[in-house]
Amino acid sequence: MHPFSQITSLQQGLARGDYSSRELTEFYLERVKRLNPRSNCYITLCEERALRQADAADQRIRNGAASPITGIPLAHKDIFCTSGVATTCGSRMLETFVAPYDATVVARLDAAGAVTLGKANLDEFAMGSSNENSYFGAVSNPWDEERVPGGSSGGSAAAVAWGLAPIATGTDTGGSIRQPAAFCGVSGLKPTYGRVSRYGMVAFASSLDQGGVLGRSVADLGLLLAHFAGPDPLDSTCHAAADPWLDALRNGSLETPTGGLRIGLPTEYFTQLDEAGQLDAAAKIFEAWGCTLTDISLPHTDAAIPAYYIIAGAEASTNLSRYDGVRFGHRCSDPASLDDLYQRSRTEGFGAEVKRRILTGTYALSVGYFDAYYIKAQKIRRLIQQDFLNAFDAVDLILAPTAPGVAFPKGDLTGDPVAMYQQDLFTIPASLAGLPAMSLPCGFEAGLPLGMQLIAPHFAERTLLEWGDRYQRETDWHLQHPEVD
Ligand code: GLN
Repeated sequence: MHPFSQITSLQQGLARGDYSSRELTEFYLERVKRLNPRSNCYITLCEERALRQADAADQRIRNGAASPITGIPLAHKDIFCTSGVATTCGSRMLETFVAPYDATVVARLDAAGAVTLGKANLDEFAMGSSNENSYFGAVSNPWDEERVPGGSSGGSAAAVAWGLAPIATGTDTGGSIRQPAAFCGVSGLKPTYGRVSRYGMVAFASSLDQGGVLGRSVADLGLLLAHFAGPDPLDSTCHAAADPWLDALRNGSLETPTGGLRIGLPTEYFTQLDEAGQLDAAAKIFEAWGCTLTDISLPHTDAAIPAYYIIAGAEASTNLSRYDGVRFGHRCSDPASLDDLYQRSRTEGFGAEVKRRILTGTYALSVGYFDAYYIKAQKIRRLIQQDFLNAFDAVDLILAPTAPGVAFPKGDLTGDPVAMYQQDLFTIPASLAGLPAMSLPCGFEAGLPLGMQLIAPHFAERTLLEWGDRYQRETDWHLQHPEVD
């Protein structure tokens, strides 16, 4: 057993009987107990439950009734509701909250026989780019423990990078899967908006939130996605039509794509990074396969961050109004009146960044400013989406950096929210447009991993996964891991 194994290889080990799911699960649990004090990847460890699931998985494997992920241990971002296990969302507000039901993503992975090791750390309510906004403390990047793992799915990305889970779920509203994947040197997929059910995923910005996966290879991302994506009557924004390709992937593997893909390199995204030329080198690999590389323009890129922080804040301010201290969540002691109950419960329960979003979002939605901010931001969102649709008339895939730099030191940006928001420069546009996008390791800069982002047209995850997988069969960036033991 190797902590940095891909699930596609663990699956073979389980099928051959090299080890049982119980042994595999105990192996990861032991590592988590040893390394979590240093890394803080997990908020909750589900030891007993995981061992029960592992035993059931072993039984299923013996009975010949296993799915391709039966017995595979994983971590869930602590934004997915899990019945019987706390779902904190990284907030004091939900510190003791135990959901009465499972998120669709969790229920489907459970049904397929996956083993939940625990709940991964995250920025409070998924708001942040460094995991430093978690009520449960920051997470360490295993490539340099003084640096952040990215966010908001920082615990998920770091758990995979530390070898504390072979794969993990995450969510991405404006970059929260892709940016931490890039910072931690793992692969991360944000599917098309509507590909994955949001049922049981604690809401941040409902028109942007999308569940996805972080793992050690593109092949692993595809395998897990196939088991949790797809139509769900419990989420009206989940695309209603099944995708036969994705359904087939559940029991199959990615094919090697052929032919010449037209790849676009957006000039607006190649401004700051890539001194070492790693992205150029990656693009050259695609070129050698017969793909064409074209410079393209996404002219409204500049307006993406301001538009996103208006829209996401507006939606957050309404979504988070449910935390009123009455039905669930943190409740202040001895309220003097109903107003006092609301006010103190929310003041005590939310952290500074969440309060900032609620304030700015409420402001943008207020009668006097609705047109000037919210409506204007929606118009910008439409223009950004149109930029991509125009680009996809001429290209099949967009190749770009994932983030404007490598993982930064803890504390560097905490005093400057706008500088923190700038981290999302290259991830937010695809989120506003609802497009599928993936980050995969493509090199190192001063010992820290660099991420390459691939963005595809709506519901073209197949293009992302097959070409990403082909890239990983030709390179070994995704096989590198930090020396943490
Ligand atoms: N960093 C962005 C934010 O803070 C994106 C977060 C996310 O994708 N959940 O809103």
